[in-house]
Amino acid sequence: MTKVVQTIAELKAFVRDTKQAGNTIGLVPTMGALHEGHLTLAAQARNENDVVVMSVFVNPKQFGPNEDFDTYPRDLEGDTKLAASVGVDVVFAPSTEEMYPTDGGITIRAGRAAEILCGASRPGHFDGVLQVVAKLFHLVEPTRAYFGQKDAQQVALIETMVRDYNFPLEICTVPIVREADGLAKSSRNVYLTAEERQQAVGLYNGLKFAKEAILSGKPMGIAMMAARDQIARETGGEIDYFECLSYPDLKSIDGQTTDVLLAGAVYIGKTRLIDNMIFNLKENN
Ligand code: AMP
Repeated sequence: MTKVVQTIAELKAFVRDTKQAGNTIGLVPTMGALHEGHLTLAAQARNENDVVVMSVFVNPKQFGPNEDFDTYPRDLEGDTKLAASVGVDVVFAPSTEEMYPTDGGITIRAGRAAEILCGASRPGHFDGVLQVVAKLFHLVEPTRAYFGQKDAQQVALIETMVRDYNFPLEICTVPIVREADGLAKSSRNVYLTAEERQQAVGLYNGLKFAKEAILSGKPMGIAMMAARDQIARETGGEIDYFECLSYPDLKSIDGQTTDVLLAGAVYIGKTRLIDNMIFNLKENN
């Protein structure tokens, strides 16, 4: 049975009992509107921990003033059923007031790595992500927390925060779950019209094209330019960014770089979609 918990007091009582019984906790933070991507995270958490807590919270702090906070899909009942299907023990679904009852003015600044890629067009987004994630880590006291590679910059920043601020847990990253044609699963895919849905896969196709071109030895600049052209053509959308950086430190590529993050964001109509691939530049050698 999956239990829905909406208050911090009830959550803390559950966490205390779980810890006292000597059980490990896997945490899966989400904003709900669950799909197979989220459920894959939860299934892995189920395999690796005694107890699984999934948070479902559309965090206002990580949305900009002109973003989709108000229209973001919400369906706690449907989400709870899906969470139950993969064995989640507790769905923690607090209200905004429950999560942020006070504001003492102290903020978390995500820093340099949050000013590039998604951070460049979403100022303050990663500050808000780190704020809610830090709170969830303190509330749930997880042994492990699960994040998708879909949000690669987010995982890189969370890993950095956990390392530098000694959060006592392990961060586990789960590969991107895709639709049959390659489109990365996303709660925002529901915004797409039928025609936009067809176009949306162009981002994945562009990533694949760029990866193959880079691995076949094409100069990086030429490979990226050709991939950009292809994405613009196939999606008909506006490219927010399409970049290849060293991973996990997210710096410009140089002769020493081995692992890279190839990442893009495209506006298809009003919907902003992201996708990425992480690979080794020497993969085929
Ligand atoms: P969200 O609800 O969009 O905040 O996502 C919650 C978690 O699920 C994040 O760690 C995401 O990276 C992860 N996630 C979302 N979509 C996917 C996907 N297609 N594959 C893998 N993980 C995903």
